[in-house]
Amino acid sequence: VVIESTLQAGSLALAQQVVNAVCDPEIPVITLFDLGVVRDVCLNEQGVCVELTPTYSGCPATEVIKDSVRQALLDAGFKQVQILMSLNPPWSTDRITEKGKNNLREYGIAPPNQCLQSQNVSQLTFFAPNVGVACPRCSSNNTEKISQFGSTPCKALYRCITCREPFDYFKPY
Ligand SMILES: [Zn+2]
Repeated sequence: VVIESTLQAGSLALAQQVVNAVCDPEIPVITLFDLGVVRDVCLNEQGVCVELTPTYSGCPATEVIKDSVRQALLDAGFKQVQILMSLNPPWSTDRITEKGKNNLREYGIAPPNQCLQSQNVSQLTFFAPNVGVACPRCSSNNTEKISQFGSTPCKALYRCITCREPFDYFKPY
């Protein structure tokens, strides 16, 4: 019994390690863990059970994410993998870790801004919707929104007026 539970604990740690290391298919510099997509990893009689919360519902990446996690676990030697999609409570940009936000910035995507997030709560008091999105390259706040949708529906396309580079902004959600 002791040996069994040790093995069990070992495989759970391995399963968590494997799942947490899977990167987002759209933004390969950020792991699903840092993106806040991994909700739970556990072992049961059926094998590994992973609970994921997709970022934007209807985001085509969701199926790819499920497949990536399943494949990573199969590659690591797990035989049975069950992936559950948990929509409640929904994913929000608050779930992105600090490390994840740094990864996004380094990749050239402006991470969601707390300041802009409050825009949803009190839109009337928010006069300049572009203020607060800092350029991920030069940190200038002098940026403008070009399009509501960037490379994916989850992102908006911005341009930095200071360094003239366009960049994706991960919209608060
Ligand atoms: Zn810039």
